[in-house]
Amino acid sequence: MPGILYLVPTPIGNLGDISTRMIDILNEVDFIAAEDTRVSLKILNHLDIKKPLVSYYRHNTETSGSQIVQRLLAGESCALVTDAGTPAISDPGEDLVALCAEQNLTVVGIPGPCALVTALAVSGLPTGRFTFEGFLAMNKKNRREHLESLKGEQRTMIFYEAPHKLLSTLGDMANTFGSSRRISLCRELTKLHEEIRRTTLGEAVAYYQENNPKGEFVLVIEGETAVIEPPTLTLEEAAERVRALYEAGTPMKEAAKQLAAETGFPKKELYRLAVR
Ligand code: SAM
Repeated sequence: MPGILYLVPTPIGNLGDISTRMIDILNEVDFIAAEDTRVSLKILNHLDIKKPLVSYYRHNTETSGSQIVQRLLAGESCALVTDAGTPAISDPGEDLVALCAEQNLTVVGIPGPCALVTALAVSGLPTGRFTFEGFLAMNKKNRREHLESLKGEQRTMIFYEAPHKLLSTLGDMANTFGSSRRISLCRELTKLHEEIRRTTLGEAVAYYQENNPKGEFVLVIEGETAVIEPPTLTLEEAAERVRALYEAGTPMKEAAKQLAAETGFPKKELYRLAVR
C-alpha cells in the first residue's frame, strides 16, 4: 500500500505552538522532508526526535519531489516540514502536494501555525471574506500590476512582505488604494517583539520612514468600502502625506494628484507645499 504525505506545520516563532499531534506524526513517519534541514534539526532536537531527513527546497523540487513520491509509492510515509508555519502556504510544499495529487497519493494536512490566518484574526479588519496575495514580485512593474489588479477589491487583502521591501511596498499600496485605506501591520507574530499596528497606509508610510522595519511582517489591508469618508486632514497634513509618498518612491505629481482626489484640496497647492 502507498504511504501518506503529512503536512506538518511548525511554529512561526513560539515553540509552545507545537501540538501533540505534530509530535506524534513526526515520530511515526519513515522520513522527514525539510525545506532547510538545519532549521528543522533544531526543532527535531528540541523534541528529541531522530529521523532520516531529506531536503526539499525551492531549487530541488523536481528531483527531490520525484524521489519523495517514489518512496511514498513504495509504501513509506513522509512528514513535510518547512522553515516556519504551514507547508504549501507561500513555500515549496505546494509543488509536492500537486505531485502527490497527480499520483493519487493521500495527503493529510495537520492544522497548526500559519502567519496569514493569525494576522487576519488579530487585524481588527473584516474576516468574513478575504484574499491571500502572498509575496509581491521583486520586479517593480510586476508588483504595481499585481496591486493594480486589486483596485476595487472589496475583500480584506493579506500580503507577506520582507522588512527591506516594506517601505516601498507601502508606498505602492498607498498609491494604489489611497493613503486613508486601513491596514494592520502584524509583525513578529507569536514572538517576543510581537506588534500589531492598526493604522492607515499613509500613516504607515510616514511611520516606517522614521523607523527602520525589523522582523517578519504580514500586511492585512481593508478592502474597498462603498462609504466615502469625509476628509479629516488639514492642508498641511495632506502636503505631509504627499511628501511621505514621494519619499517612498511615488512621483511627486502623482502623490499630489492622489491626495487632491482624497481630500478635495487643490493639487497645485499640495504640490507647492510638499516641495517647499
Ligand atoms: N508557510 C508559512 C506560513 O504558514 O505562514 C509562510 C512562509 S513564507 C516563506 C514566510 C513569510 O511569512 C514571511 O516573510 C512573513 O511575511 C510571514 N511570516 C512568517 N512568520 C511570521 C511571523 N512570526 N510574524 C509575521 N509574519 C510572519
